[in-house]
Amino acid sequence: MSGQNDMTSAIGLTSTIPVEIIYAAGLTPVDLNNLFIASEKSESMVKEAEAAGFSHNICAWIKGIYSAVLDNNIKQVIAVMGGDCSNTIALAEILARKGVNIISFEYPLSKNRDFLASQMDRLRLALSTTWDRIEETRQHLNRIRMKLNEFDRLTFEENVVTGLENHLFLVGSSDFNSDPVKFEKDLDNIIREAVKRPPRKEEIRLGYLGVPPVFTNFYEFIESMGGRVVFNEVQRQFSMPYFCKDIVDQYLRYTYPYDIGGRIEDIKNAVKERRLDGLIHYTQTFCFRQLYDMIIRKESPVPVLTLEGDRPGKIDSRIALRIETFIEMLKDRI
Ligand code: SF4
Repeated sequence: MSGQNDMTSAIGLTSTIPVEIIYAAGLTPVDLNNLFIASEKSESMVKEAEAAGFSHNICAWIKGIYSAVLDNNIKQVIAVMGGDCSNTIALAEILARKGVNIISFEYPLSKNRDFLASQMDRLRLALSTTWDRIEETRQHLNRIRMKLNEFDRLTFEENVVTGLENHLFLVGSSDFNSDPVKFEKDLDNIIREAVKRPPRKEEIRLGYLGVPPVFTNFYEFIESMGGRVVFNEVQRQFSMPYFCKDIVDQYLRYTYPYDIGGRIEDIKNAVKERRLDGLIHYTQTFCFRQLYDMIIRKESPVPVLTLEGDRPGKIDSRIALRIETFIEMLKDRI
């Protein structure tokens, strides 16, 4: 499949799952979150779901995923029922009643290896592929993951990649933008171009924590204030920058679906390795993950700014002022 126009072999994902299994089955994974937020109609997609009956106090991502499936006529969805969002359970039932074929996938909160392996095997059987093909696909995707790792290094070590570029490539690795060949080509091109750039000079080095932002101009605004995001926590996790002996270990190291301990360790390492001056913790309105803010603030070795976003769109003046004040405060500290 080239791009996201041909949806005949598409299989929607409500969250990151082992895409190696989907590609090995000859199908095309489409991360529904990316499909929603990258759409020019993302705002109206939220309204569309509300018109269908979703109440205002349901998170915008759930509404966006609902509309993305229906608007793009996606007939099959892998719904992550454990390790992501409890809203997905009801969303999957709503989509099933609209005729969408739902395959469930669960991450074990306990990080139990056998449980995760059995979930992967269930998915493999549902999609009719073999472990040999999956491993072959994994080796191919690992080559791209290594390049993403280098691209990330160029962001925080060589300082030649913007926070937005880093975000876009890492967030896209949840499904390799539905086309790994094109994805790799685009990545090669930007790496080739970035290494020729002069190092960027922003004073303040920031880490971005949490689910990807619903704001459309977030990274650009931060750079206009003299800061730069050199660590995109969850997006980097999508790229799985650890090269494990097998696919089960790979998805056990992925921090997002499990308890906050793994994330905290990852964040603390990044603060040290990337010399971060501060962290921005993004929380989504009506999301249970907001509760993690208490732990993140307590554990962070550097100042944390917590921002909350609701619907897609530009950051409003109140959030802009909070970011500006935070960056100014960090400038005074260095
Ligand atoms: S942001 Fe939170 S509530 Fe919304 S889909 Fe993600 S996990 Fe669920």
